[in-house]
Parts: sequence; structure tokens; C-alpha cells
Amino acid sequence: RGKRAFIAGIADDNGYGWAISKSLAAAGAEILVGTWVPALNIFETSLRRGKFDESRVLPDGSLMKITKVYPLDAVYDCPEDVPEDVKTNKRYAGSTKWTVKEVAESVKEDFGSIDILIHSLANGPEVSKPLLETSRNGYLAAISASSYSFVSLLKYFAPIINPGGATISLTYIASEKIIPGYGGGMSSAKAALESDTQVLAFEAGRKHKIRVNTISAGPLRSRAAKAIGFIDMIIDYSLENAPLQKELSADEVGNVAAFLASPLASAITGAVVYVDNGLNAMGVGV
Ligand code: NAD
Repeated sequence: RGKRAFIAGIADDNGYGWAISKSLAAAGAEILVGTWVPALNIFETSLRRGKFDESRVLPDGSLMKITKVYPLDAVYDCPEDVPEDVKTNKRYAGSTKWTVKEVAESVKEDFGSIDILIHSLANGPEVSKPLLETSRNGYLAAISASSYSFVSLLKYFAPIINPGGATISLTYIASEKIIPGYGGGMSSAKAALESDTQVLAFEAGRKHKIRVNTISAGPLRSRAAKAIGFIDMIIDYSLENAPLQKELSADEVGNVAAFLASPLASAITGAVVYVDNGLNAMGVGV
């Protein structure tokens, strides 16, 4: 039977999550999506109205099918964790069972198991502030949404990921090299995500026979990246300085995710795989 993938972190057709889903779908996987609760309505409406149809086209001409969209807020593990003001917020009140534990339970109920788990989400409320000006709350919120969210997803989904399965997150080079502008504790969050990739590869490998990798992606003009504010400058910098002087397409990241999720990568786990036109390898811009 074909593989089944759950992709957390899609709310439009511009980001890495969408491109990864397309590559997985093109390779024959069934696609389940987890969408941030406040973005759910507009995403589902746009899907239904055909707004994404052009970007749903797969290489064979067919349209990517999304079997089910689940509401998800990956900063909450279970209903007891949700504060009253969020529960009653009108953007949340219309949806149910969107904490990580509940989503994993729903997927189990609906489909039994999955083979591939993709974490393509991040949030840092103070991302535009330098680290030196970041508040404790802002820093912890970045870590919660961008790093612990992966620990939590893996924790609750691992029991329903078939042995031989694969999990992938997305990281950014700001974790290991200074990228001024990637603030608010987001650089710290990506460093945690990469370190956790190794520890979780060990733990989930031994316990569940599943692989854990992360893709360090080059810059893409996604919704999240536009919110940071410096994305055009970073794209220009890469065009000028990377070994491969071309714009990075989201599909190039999607294709590597499909490879990493496939049996072709059955011995790769605990890895940070760079998909950035080689920019990470440069020591100085020329
Ligand atoms: P994106 O906006 O398409 O994806 C981010 C998603 O996270 C959004 O759909 C948003 O709704 C969701 N999200 C935010 N908080 C959430 C929460 N609490 N629960 C559930 N979902 C939540 O942007 P993207 O750039 O494609 O980001 C995907 C991943 O790629 C992120 O981890 C990002 O850090 C990483 N990345 C992006 C770039 C880039 O240049 N765009 C580079 C390297 C890595």
C-alpha cells in the first residue's frame, strides 16, 4: 500500500509544507495536513474554492489530493494546557480537538497509522527584535512553537508511525552561524531543533524504528519569512554568494524531503541536510 503522511504547518500554497506535500503526493503518498487553528478557515475556504488548484498540479498533470485537514495548535499538548482566553477566542471556538495529543488520536481513529511525519512550522512573536532585546516570554514562545512543538508531535505520533517511518523538520542556518535579523530567540529555537534531531533520532530509532532528520533550507519568500522582514535581502545575498547562483525553489526542498522519507534514505537519521544551493559551505561572500 502507499505511504501516508501527516504534514503539520500548511496554511497556504507558498511555504515549504505545501511543496513537501506535493513531492510526497507525486511519489504516491496519501496527504493529511495539520493547519494552525487561526488560519484554518481561510485555508479550507481557499482550497474548496479552487484558489490553490494551479499550484496543486503534480508532474503527471493530476491535482494533489489532500485527504483531510486537521486543525492544530502545536503549542498545546492536551486540552488541560489551553488557557481560558484561547479556548473562548472566536478564532478557536469553532474548532475542536486541535491540541497535539488530540490530533494524534483523531488521525489514529481515522486512519490507524501513518508512515511520514513532517514538521513545517515555526513562530517567534519577537522575531524582528534582536536577541539582546528579546523578552523572556518572547524567547520561550519561540522555543515552544518552533522546537518543543516537534518533540511533542513526535511524542504523540510515534506510537502510530509504522516501523521504518520517517520524520522531518525544517531548520535554518541561523542556528549555527550569525544571521543578523533572525531574532526573537528564533536562532536559539533552530539550534534546539537541530540538537533534538540527534537525541530524538536515537530515542525514536531505538524505540520505534523511525528516522528523524531535519532539512536546513535556504531562503524562501513564504508567509512566515515575509513576517521576518529581511527575506528579499537574504535571497539576494544567496544569489550573489552561494556556489549555485540561482533562486531556491520550494520544490527543491520538497524533493529532498521525499527522498529522506523514502527507503532510499533508510540509513540516514539524526542528520541536518542542507538544501540551500550550497551557501552553508561558504566561509566568506565573494
Ligand atoms: P509558512 O508560513 O508556510 O509555514 C509556517 C506555518 O506554521 C504556517 O502555516 C503557520 O500557520 C504555522 N504555525 C505557526 N504557529 C503554529 C502553531 N502554534 N501550531 C501549528 N502551526 C503553526 O512558512 P515556511 O517558511 O514555509 O516555514 C516552514 C518551516 O520552514 C519553518 O520551520 C521555518 O522556520 C522553516 N524555514 C523557512 C525558511 C524560509 O526562508 N522560508 C528557511 C529555512 C527554514
